Amino acid sequence: MNMVILHIAGHGKKKSGVFDPGAIGFIKQGEHKYYAETFFDLLKKYEPKGHKVIYHTAYNVYNYGNIVDLAKSYGQDTVVIEWHFDAALSKSIKGGHVIVYNKFKPDALDLRLRDGINKMVGVRYNHRGHKGIAGRSNLSNVNRCAKGKVNYRLIELGLCTNCEDSKVMLESADEYAKVMSEAIYNQEIKINTQSDIQTGDYIVRSGDTLWGIANKYNMTVNELKKLNGLTNDIIHAGNKLKLNNNTKVETEVKPIIKPEPKKEDKLKATKTGDVVIRSIQSTLNSRYNTGLRVDGYYGSLTNKAIVKGLQTELNKQFSRKLKIDGSFGSSSRANWVTVKRGAKGNLTYLIQALLYCKGYKITLDLSFGGATKKVVKQFQKDNKLTVDGKIGKNAITALVK
Ligand SMILES: [Zn+2]
Repeated sequence: MNMVILHIAGHGKKKSGVFDPGAIGFIKQGEHKYYAETFFDLLKKYEPKGHKVIYHTAYNVYNYGNIVDLAKSYGQDTVVIEWHFDAALSKSIKGGHVIVYNKFKPDALDLRLRDGINKMVGVRYNHRGHKGIAGRSNLSNVNRCAKGKVNYRLIELGLCTNCEDSKVMLESADEYAKVMSEAIYNQEIKINTQSDIQTGDYIVRSGDTLWGIANKYNMTVNELKKLNGLTNDIIHAGNKLKLNNNTKVETEVKPIIKPEPKKEDKLKATKTGDVVIRSIQSTLNSRYNTGLRVDGYYGSLTNKAIVKGLQTELNKQFSRKLKIDGSFGSSSRANWVTVKRGAKGNLTYLIQALLYCKGYKITLDLSFGGATKKVVKQFQKDNKLTVDGKIGKNAITALVK
């Protein structure tokens, strides 16, 4: 079934000319540019043929107030998906959701989108028994579309204030786009293996010869030349050649993809890597010889390197005999020493680094003072631990997760 889909990047340029970036948090592009410059390109990459798909990034549709007219300008049955990500005061809140008008039940598309989000970052909220769906009546575009009978939902892809969600949205954006495309079109989507049966012309590629092409399509060189009015054997890449009448030609279809930039290029281009995390990574490398790539992203490798640091410090400062393997298991837990207010040095630094990477605002000053204690208490509260402001066995176990 062919669909008309209107993707809207949330926020953007207002009528007044002022640019509204949306939420930012760990995703330095902000909501609007994340969709307009990153995610929508990836969605295009995973877009199957046969649908009319519009990507709206030109202005802030919410501010213009014209969502119903905009949707209907592409047809009465336009399916609208407005894309956002969330921010929250507590860094530990995570997960995405799909917003629908509160008097509506989610439809099959809403539920598939919800499943996609759940797969990538988990979901929150519950509407009429559907986890990951939020029913709202206080959002303008939701209300406008309900009233104007437009098939609409608003997606919150995750929380830009949560370290893990942001990491998925940044580092696994490609996979996230694929998962969401599969949800939208309700089919498994593959790229690179696309082929298309067409009748008609052959487009010459560099390296092709008349003989080779003729051979491939069961023609003679002379037939090919005659059909195309060629007086010599010279062909150039990009030339169109007619083949035998209505010969079915299997051609590769160029995927609609920009080449995936290398990670380093991408970082340079978008500057999304975090400067403090970079400094943590280079400190770990020089102090514990961890060989991390200094990319400003907190992921499993950086986490492992911090754990190696913790194990090294426990061995050095407290004569433990831990294996430095970067995995905080039962032996590391048993040999942990409680770190509390008044402590100074590398263990405190590593704790501060973990808190920072988990999205807490903290200065990495190697000194466990009142400010660090306050952040530790917040972390314990967020993780439903005993709130004592000390990093004991339970707190460190939660922190290294
Ligand atoms: Zn938003």
